Amino acid sequence: MSNNDQFSTANSPDRPAVLEHTRNIGIAAHIDAGKTTCTERVLFYSGVVHKIGEVHDGNATTDWMEQERERGITITSAAISCGWTTSEGPYAGIDQRINIIDTPGHVDFTAEVERSLRVLDGAIGVFTSVEGVQPQSETVWRQMDKYSVPRLAFINKMDRMGSNFLAAVNSMREKLGANAHPLFLAIGAEENFKGLVDLVKMVAYVYDDTDESGVKFDTVDIPEEHLSQAKEYRESLIEALSDFDDDIANKFLDGEDFSEDEIKLGIRKATLSLKFVGVIPGSAFKNKGVQMLMDAVVDYLPSPLDLPPMKGEDSDENEVEVSPDDSAQVAGLAFKLMTDPYVGKLVFYRVYQGTMKKGASLYNPRTRKTERISRLMVMKADAREDIEVAYSGDICAIIGVKDVVTGDTLADKGLDLRLEPPSFPEPVISMSIEPATKADQEKMGVGLQRLAEEDPTFGLSTNEETGQTIISGMGELHLDIIRDRLFREFKVEANAGKPQIAYRETILTNSEGVGKFIRQSGGRGQYGHALIRLEPLEKGKGIEIVNEIVGGSIPKEFIKPTFQGIREAALGGVVAGFEVIDFKVTLYDGSFHDVDSSEMAFKMAGIFAFKDAMQKASPILLEPIMKVEVSTPDEYQGELMGDLNRRRGQIQGMETRGTVCIVDAFVPLENMFGYSTDMRSLSSGRADYSMTPSHFEQVPQNLVQGIVDTNARQPNRT
Ligand code: GDP
Repeated sequence: MSNNDQFSTANSPDRPAVLEHTRNIGIAAHIDAGKTTCTERVLFYSGVVHKIGEVHDGNATTDWMEQERERGITITSAAISCGWTTSEGPYAGIDQRINIIDTPGHVDFTAEVERSLRVLDGAIGVFTSVEGVQPQSETVWRQMDKYSVPRLAFINKMDRMGSNFLAAVNSMREKLGANAHPLFLAIGAEENFKGLVDLVKMVAYVYDDTDESGVKFDTVDIPEEHLSQAKEYRESLIEALSDFDDDIANKFLDGEDFSEDEIKLGIRKATLSLKFVGVIPGSAFKNKGVQMLMDAVVDYLPSPLDLPPMKGEDSDENEVEVSPDDSAQVAGLAFKLMTDPYVGKLVFYRVYQGTMKKGASLYNPRTRKTERISRLMVMKADAREDIEVAYSGDICAIIGVKDVVTGDTLADKGLDLRLEPPSFPEPVISMSIEPATKADQEKMGVGLQRLAEEDPTFGLSTNEETGQTIISGMGELHLDIIRDRLFREFKVEANAGKPQIAYRETILTNSEGVGKFIRQSGGRGQYGHALIRLEPLEKGKGIEIVNEIVGGSIPKEFIKPTFQGIREAALGGVVAGFEVIDFKVTLYDGSFHDVDSSEMAFKMAGIFAFKDAMQKASPILLEPIMKVEVSTPDEYQGELMGDLNRRRGQIQGMETRGTVCIVDAFVPLENMFGYSTDMRSLSSGRADYSMTPSHFEQVPQNLVQGIVDTNARQPNRT
């Protein structure tokens, strides 16, 4: 535990990183749970910023972009480095570097969350002590499960009316299925929230209300009225740890005492196993519990050394592992791009292996280009600082790499390696966009291109029939913000068309397809001929294209163009012209002509083969389904459920919390336009809802024709 004098002595992030003492963490939460405030406090305590920036003043350090300030939501994840030193426990007195990746809370930006989870080693889930687990925190939690991120939970806003720490811990157990255990108990609640009981040390920290900064606390004996509860929870904490450590289990059964370090190491082991979550109560706003949270980050969340090696593949698609070894060749992942008004394009980069030096040249297997890293930086709150080297496990910002997109691997040229990029959800909405003045057409194109490089869930295409530019994304808000950024950063005012649903297509059965592109009359001939097998893949598996050509029936140089044709054909399926997802294509045979074959002919053969196979593979149309949660006073529940049913909603569950009724449902996005207005009028303005893209499902047969017709009349596709 840092004592009160230690806030400003935290180490500088400039020193060489010692891997064991680095923590790359994220703070993830439902919007408004207090993530930004927590981040601010952490930066404050670690001495990076000396004045606390309050979110409601629009001054928070991690809120980079202007409109984020206005909207009060943190859209972009910024990586910030700070230091922290614990004074007790296994890491006492050792300077730690904490890199914080701020993750957004709004579900329209789940891609931001996904991409940051990919490069994080551990995370803090922030929940509020009043609402407990809210639907979007559930989404984020599941994403963290997917990426195997060890985590801690901070139950924030203990000072608010109606706060209840233990109820919030229970909601984590019930709604998230988390094996959640308090590491501390709260002393008091609401305006009487005074401090925390430490279940490891069995002491209490009581904050000094007379201290203006609100950060000072006294370490005292556990108040009498909290003692028996503290004993009970300490015991159940240690019992929970027994599942992860035989020594603890034996000692626990023998009724022996535990040292502080024994318990801390036990919590660390349990946390790293991903099957245990330690929970801490606090109030970021009132500066309570944040120091304990930071100590817990150091004590319990993993260093880059604690994690399994990162996986990637070589150019023959063999699996390759990278490990955090400073002396190995450099390999890392570009996980975030930002355009900075002063330094230009900033690429946030996680070094997974080796030592990255300023001036180094790194190879990008996607572009097959080598580019020079002209500057290396770490971001500290609102300042950037040049550094000479970044070590394995570090997160840094690099400048000088021009042709790069989010998810690219940058590695030493000698390393034949492509790291697994993060996976991103499919866009669910699209709209046409055009500049208010024709003269801005080109500027708009450049701006949109730049934004698409930064944000992999933002799609950009042209409608070939109408020539319109189409943008696609995760929701209306997402696309609104893109338009906003276009205006602010690129000075282009743009008008958008009506939002359209981004349908998808897929197939149900296996099939075979033949593509022939043969022109042999007059002039130079063309000859391309490809045979493919097409198979459905499981939901979410994307596209797999495999080469099984043996004996040169298609020469090597024409394989790639054939694949290109297949990919291009898959952008517009055969049902209604929407992108085809979740399939595997195997190119297994073909033929060529010594003179007439060309890349173009094989590309065409690929297109024809895919279309042919797709026709025969029972193609279907898919629509985005949203997970919707409506909370309403009891009396409107019937009306609202009837309304959800009319919208083709499938009610998943209903729960009453006090007088509030919560309804969970899956509803097709198509039927969610205008929902907020209808919901308000049905409930006299008293109900509320939230929704998240969940998955794609087959469009019922009776609706397919309507969608095909609408999209034929009004071509507006992604
Ligand atoms: P984010 O959306 O998760 O980043 O949440 P913010 O940090 O922006 O906080 C949302 C609102 O809750 C802001 O108005 C904060 O001032 C407020 N807030 C944050 N933490 C606390 C807290 O501990 N107690 C109270 N009462 N309000 C808080």
